[in-house]
Amino acid sequence: MSILVVLESQADGLKRTSCEAITAAVDVAGGAAVTGIIFNGSQQHLAMAGAYGLTTVLNVSGDEWSAHPSARMAAAISEAATKVGATLVLFGANSTGKNIAPRVAVRLSAGFLPDCVALHGSASAIEATRPVYAGKALVNVKSTTSTTVATLRPNLFTAKNVGGSAAASEAFAPSQTSSIPSLQVTNVTRNEGQLDVSEADIIVSGGRGLKGPEHFNLVENLAKSLGAAVGASRAVVDAGWRPHREQVGQTGKTVSPTMYVACGISGAVQHLAGMSSSKIIVAINKDKDAPIFSVADYGIVGDVFEVLPRLTTAISAVTGKN
Ligand SMILES: Cc1cc2nc3c(=O)[nH]c(=O)nc-3n(C[C@H](O)[C@H](O)[C@H](O)COP(=O)(O)OP(=O)(O)OC[C@H]3O[C@@H](n4cnc5c(N)ncnc54)[C@H](O)[C@@H]3O)c2cc1C
Repeated sequence: MSILVVLESQADGLKRTSCEAITAAVDVAGGAAVTGIIFNGSQQHLAMAGAYGLTTVLNVSGDEWSAHPSARMAAAISEAATKVGATLVLFGANSTGKNIAPRVAVRLSAGFLPDCVALHGSASAIEATRPVYAGKALVNVKSTTSTTVATLRPNLFTAKNVGGSAAASEAFAPSQTSSIPSLQVTNVTRNEGQLDVSEADIIVSGGRGLKGPEHFNLVENLAKSLGAAVGASRAVVDAGWRPHREQVGQTGKTVSPTMYVACGISGAVQHLAGMSSSKIIVAINKDKDAPIFSVADYGIVGDVFEVLPRLTTAISAVTGKN
């Protein structure tokens, strides 16, 4: 009985979703061993994994992994899960987790619990809470298979730095993965200076209430003053005002930042499906009956063209960002 946590790296350490998954694993382990797995992990990644509570990380090294060959990574993770006798394999529910976790579940003939917002039970009898019906309801589910694969919705599990020393790196060389045909990422275009909504701690999103793409600078300026990412409703993405990567909702990205500011967004159920688990929701809408106010913690009934510049000036004065 053990838990395998799939760790993702970024330039300055582990992704926040990985640290959250480590804490969730440690909390639910109840005495079971918790091991991490990383591709081309560095000393910095091991130090961070240890700080959040891991003692051992399986390190899969080699140039071929830098192209993120998802089918091969899934095979390697499945093999590692078998090696450590994992009864639970945890991923963050970000784009990597959504891509690779179902493949691992199929390989292990494991029950699959996607997009969990809470974990209960133990490593050998895991139960989870997850949203259904586009976030309208939460359901408690229990896995009945001997191994379970789960993805954890970002920002709902608190990552706790327990101050542990660097995790020990154990070299792990998966067998026969090179023969598996795999889609490879050949080029990544980074939006320099722009935060991704799925990783951001604060998101300022704009909707059709902005009236046109030329007014999105109001949303961008507020986002800058808060150090936030810019998001969008599907209406404005479909209209070509904003790129699809910014779309939040049922057919866009699911986000759960610490703060979500919805500007000129009505709050259609499909939009709420992607953001209603945000910790603090602020809504700015000139229609006091707009559905977005039913999920908002703070609401401003007003015109975005008046409210946004004033809010930006006031916040910039505090944060010094503009
Ligand atoms: C299968 C399916 C999937 C979908 N997936 C998604 C999805 O992933 N994400 C998503 O967002 N939508 C999705 N939608 C679309 C969704 O139903 C809505 O049409 C969309 O969210 C509306 O976007 P909006 O709030 O920007 O526009 P609107 O609904 O037009 O709302 C604009 C809001 O702006 C307010 N407003 C207008 N002027 C001002 C002003 N000057 N100041 C302040 N407020 C103002 C209005 O009162 C209104 O509430 C999906 C729909 C379907 C059928």
